[in-house]
Amino acid sequence: MLPGTLGPQDFSVPTRTLRGRIAVAAMERLTDLLAEGEATVETALECGLDGEGRRTIAGRVQARLPMRCHRCLQVYDHVVDSSFHVVVVESGAEAEALPDELEPFISEGGAVSPHAVVEEELLLSLPVVALHDDRNACLPPAHAAGMTPERTSPFAALQGRLGGREED
Ligand SMILES: [Zn+2]
Repeated sequence: MLPGTLGPQDFSVPTRTLRGRIAVAAMERLTDLLAEGEATVETALECGLDGEGRRTIAGRVQARLPMRCHRCLQVYDHVVDSSFHVVVVESGAEAEALPDELEPFISEGGAVSPHAVVEEELLLSLPVVALHDDRNACLPPAHAAGMTPERTSPFAALQGRLGGREED
């Protein structure tokens, strides 16, 4: 289970690993950008301290997020499996003072919400424009789907293939 917040005692050497699942519905900024549907995120967060005594979180997030393809308007799963490493800071000024290679996570007041860290990473993983990776996965627009397909048309065969793939 992930705690609601991480306090100073949660960051230690050796690192401490927290694992958990978070419902996407609990992340408002993220759900605003997704299509309707339920999804959960699996996460593992390693909380530690670096050589300078800074709090660090090395983590992994895995999720299938429902997004609406801008080409065909169907909902598809955007698969996220990403790793990240952030340094916890308490202000924008502190973030700017970090060496360039370190990615800051700004936590005002010092307490860190694991949900907020995970949400931030998922937001960064979203495509600028949601589109099926594979153009062939796009379903034909509704007006075309309403046409009577001929049994031998390549169009009907394509629809059959897509139907089969969805059952996988
Ligand atoms: Zn599409």
